[in-house]
Amino acid sequence: MIRFEQVSKRYDGGHEALSSLSFHIEKGELVFLTGRSGAGKSTLLKLITAIEKPSSGSVRVNGALLKNYNRKDIAFYRRSLGIIHQDHQLMMNHSVFDNVAQPLYIAGEKPADVKRRVHAALDKVGLLSKVSFRPIQLSGGEQQRVGIARAVVKRPVLILADEPTGNLDPELSKDIMELFEQFNQLGTTVLIASHDLGLIARLNYRVMSLSNGQLVETPFASRGGQS
Ligand code: ADP
Ligand code: ADP
Repeated sequence: MIRFEQVSKRYDGGHEALSSLSFHIEKGELVFLTGRSGAGKSTLLKLITAIEKPSSGSVRVNGALLKNYNRKDIAFYRRSLGIIHQDHQLMMNHSVFDNVAQPLYIAGEKPADVKRRVHAALDKVGLLSKVSFRPIQLSGGEQQRVGIARAVVKRPVLILADEPTGNLDPELSKDIMELFEQFNQLGTTVLIASHDLGLIARLNYRVMSLSNGQLVETPFASRGGQS
């Protein structure tokens, strides 16, 4: 699903954020990406979403070499991903429904299909009763779940989450992780960047640990799980 070969990334005027990184994430895996602040986690995700380009090496997603994509391909490709941000990036002046429906509107889906799929996605994250609320009326954990519903409403084959529990307390973080596990059990590949080692250690999934732009041995033996 995701294959990095000898990938390095150097920002203009900066030092090397990622150094000759090679790894493979198989279809259907759930993988945690961890490492201290500045280790390169966001950069790695940005290479997968093609927001940034590698300075050298190749990134393949679903068999396609991202550097062969033109701008139109990239826009299309990005819309096929389920991307979840730490700060959820919801439209605060729109209803929960409209937030989750946005990717479907962009894709030109029929209103009846939009309604059915938005309701199905909100049902999955347990927020069907809040469909006409505005995000401002929801708790932090609920807002994050709206962001997740929006990310999965088109049934992406790949979910990418950047610190999805960064602003949440441990109990809510656990709930959010359970949602990711559920989507993974439906066959979706999931990559979660997180520095919440306590939470990761309690779950039995593969952990990729970054330090200074390189993969290092994980600090605990939490491997295999779904792979
Ligand atoms: P993490 O997500 O693990 O905190 P990042 O990928 O954000 O790490 O950053 C890795 C390194 O790259 C850091 O040294 C950071 O300062 C640098 N970096 C990140 N983004 C940029 C940028 N746009 N321009 C220059 N340097 C950057
Ligand atoms: P629908 O088919 O109308 O989207 P479902 O009840 O089948 O509704 O699914 C609800 C949500 O669960 C969907 O929005 C989708 O994100 C997610 N989902 C269900 N099945 C899968 C699957 N096999 N792979 C990925 N996501 C799925």
